[in-house]
Amino acid sequence: MATQEQVMAALATVDDPEIHKDLVTLGMVRDVSIAEDTVALTVVLTTPACPLKATIQKDVENALLALEGIRNVKLAWDAKPRVSAEQQAIPGVASVVAIGSGKGGVGKSTVTVNLALALAATGARVGILDADIYGPSIPLMLGLEGARPMGQGNTILPIETMGLKVMSMGFMLEKADDPVIWRGPILAGVLRQFLQQVAWGELDYLLVDLPPGTGDIPLTLVQTIPLSGAVVVVTPERVATAIGTKTMRMFQGSNTKAPILGIIENMGAFTCPHCLEPTEIFDGGGGEALANREDVPFLGSLPLDARIRRGSDAGRPVVAEDPESPLARTFADLAGRLAGRVSLEAYRNRRVEVALPMA
Ligand code: ADP
Repeated sequence: MATQEQVMAALATVDDPEIHKDLVTLGMVRDVSIAEDTVALTVVLTTPACPLKATIQKDVENALLALEGIRNVKLAWDAKPRVSAEQQAIPGVASVVAIGSGKGGVGKSTVTVNLALALAATGARVGILDADIYGPSIPLMLGLEGARPMGQGNTILPIETMGLKVMSMGFMLEKADDPVIWRGPILAGVLRQFLQQVAWGELDYLLVDLPPGTGDIPLTLVQTIPLSGAVVVVTPERVATAIGTKTMRMFQGSNTKAPILGIIENMGAFTCPHCLEPTEIFDGGGGEALANREDVPFLGSLPLDARIRRGSDAGRPVVAEDPESPLARTFADLAGRLAGRVSLEAYRNRRVEVALPMA
């Protein structure tokens, strides 16, 4: 029978594929027990949305089954964002991810709601803060028009729907199409209130849907709290990608320094509603070319597809409406890559607690 030491030594040869450190050093192994020819253990991931679960499982099994006398591996999973309480910008919220774009109408809000739903589908606890103060479209996309958040003491309770916690400037307007005429300092104050006074509870991810461009709100956000990073949504035509560059510069600015977690290209190939064949309307690959040029990750491309628009207009985003569809799978892939980048950046900034190896 293998000993506990042999099992730990074998597990210490398995690297987290994203962070490139071994599972034991990273403190990801728990509850190891050996009974005759079976090793049982729990692997604690930094996010339930970990895209590399299958790889980790295979590597753990290979390492343990190579030990003499071991025939079975019983692997259980757990997920715990290992960001310590004092490093959390908002108490209880492990990662705050900004979603920005250079210009309006590129599908930033659409991407935000579907990514949030895809992350939640993995078991992650997810919130959306709709900070697109000039065009708060998240309530419409989630079927929450007319919803009014309740106050509790001096906190505001977010609205809960489809497994998400949601707060939006749209909830504060009398009518959805009321214009917001506040100026910079008031806007900044409202955003701070949303970040600090909303009772978000425990969240793995808070996605912040920013207004397009580099105005008061995006600047206030990056200057108020440390972000896990920013995602920039672009469309493939040249103008949008050039403006996308400016947005990235703002996040990376010297006094803000939010890492770019990646670029998402939206409305890439057009999906024909009849034959479902994709057609590149603009030259393909604009988003990826931008990512390469700027040396930031490319998270993936979404098609221009009427089902995406219809879902948003009907208040049932495609990931909620048809979770098994290829479109929902595309969002799940994007969400997995995003989760991987968040974990990696957290590790790079040592926002994760790393267990020290035994002497
Ligand atoms: P933004 O937040 O960047 O202003 P929205 O998310 O509000 O943009 O999207 C603008 C419009 O485009 C909406 O009507 C939305 O349904 C539609 N849309 C967004 N992405 C797609 C897509 N990939 N395919 C089809 N329609 C889309």
